[in-house]
Amino acid sequence: MSNRQIFLSHIGQTSSSPMMLEIASANGLILHGVNGKKYIDLISGVNVSALGHSHPRIIKAVKDQVDRHMHLMVYGEFIQSPQIEYADLLTRSLPPTLNSVFFVNSGTEAVEGALKLAKRLTARTEMISFNNAYHGSTHGAMSVMGGEYFKNAFRPLLPDVTFLNFNCRAELELISDKTACVIVEPIQAEAGIILPSPGYLEALRSKCTETGSILIFDEIQTGFGRLGTLFGFELNAVVPDILVLAKSFGGGMPLGAFISSHENMKVLTENPVLGHITTFGGHPVSCAAGLETLKILLEGELVSNVEKKGLLFRKLLKHKLIKEIRGKGLMLAVELGDEKLMLELVNAGVEKGFITDWFLFCSTAFRISPPLTISEEQIKNACALIIEALDEMSI
Ligand code: PLP
Repeated sequence: MSNRQIFLSHIGQTSSSPMMLEIASANGLILHGVNGKKYIDLISGVNVSALGHSHPRIIKAVKDQVDRHMHLMVYGEFIQSPQIEYADLLTRSLPPTLNSVFFVNSGTEAVEGALKLAKRLTARTEMISFNNAYHGSTHGAMSVMGGEYFKNAFRPLLPDVTFLNFNCRAELELISDKTACVIVEPIQAEAGIILPSPGYLEALRSKCTETGSILIFDEIQTGFGRLGTLFGFELNAVVPDILVLAKSFGGGMPLGAFISSHENMKVLTENPVLGHITTFGGHPVSCAAGLETLKILLEGELVSNVEKKGLLFRKLLKHKLIKEIRGKGLMLAVELGDEKLMLELVNAGVEKGFITDWFLFCSTAFRISPPLTISEEQIKNACALIIEALDEMSI
């Protein structure tokens, strides 16, 4: 059987139309296909590879850790140096109320932990989320997913979840003293990159404080420099009660975390103990990769240059088929206003040698979220290929 046949026969599939690229190696911005073809990675494996692929310092950190040890014990029992060093550096980069890091394996698990923590902290059950929000695919995270199509077949899900329209100020009144938590992305990602209107997140923060509801920021896509600040919440000077991280947080390795105050986090240790258990959470090799990533982001000008790079994309992507470009920094949605055109563009990208994709809740725009390390020259090359593809479109 060919690799393609094995993939289709023996690998559990997520859809009937996988991209099916076979990649031999990846370096910087470039994915090298087994066929010898090069692809410019314009989506970082969906916001994961912030420093590009095969960054030598991350490879070294991973190899050094593998040489020392891999898994030793379930999360939370042993003191493991990559974990504590990472938590130390991370909490020094965060406001003092976000000083306790609960490491897990993935984004969806981090969301599960955050929702559970909010329930325990408030002794309330109601959860509030937003239409077109994506927070993960396990039952709890799926319960706060703002789209019927993907979740309806999996009911029953968590009860008592209310959905608001993002940016609708009037609906913030639905947050009450029955609300355990509000979970929100500071910029809605899978909705097709929707920015908060001025003052909206501040108003949300005030309402949560007034009602004693826990404000959870899902920064799984917006965190780690993508918006030109280390975390998205810095753009609005709104500090959440719980911050959720994953994707680039693991430096290319599987890792997630929910972060809150030490005081808050204590509720998971009592009545009952073991409020969240995870065997591999905070895996030492993942923490070593994530720690090195954070060090690099903190020491250089990579993050402060993100806005400039995003603006260059916006400047160069001018075409009659582009209706608008939404986003901030290097988290962009290029709106074509038509699903067929968008699919044509994504397929043309594979032909021409660039990788993009679309959004779960927006099928008319394509994604641009390349490694933050992308150079001006590479942006120019990528945009030239995109414009060329648009020029060749059937309409
Ligand atoms: N939250 C957001 C905003 C996401 O984009 C994702 C994944 O795309 C998740 C949560 C879930 O993360 P994971 O796929 O690691 O479970």
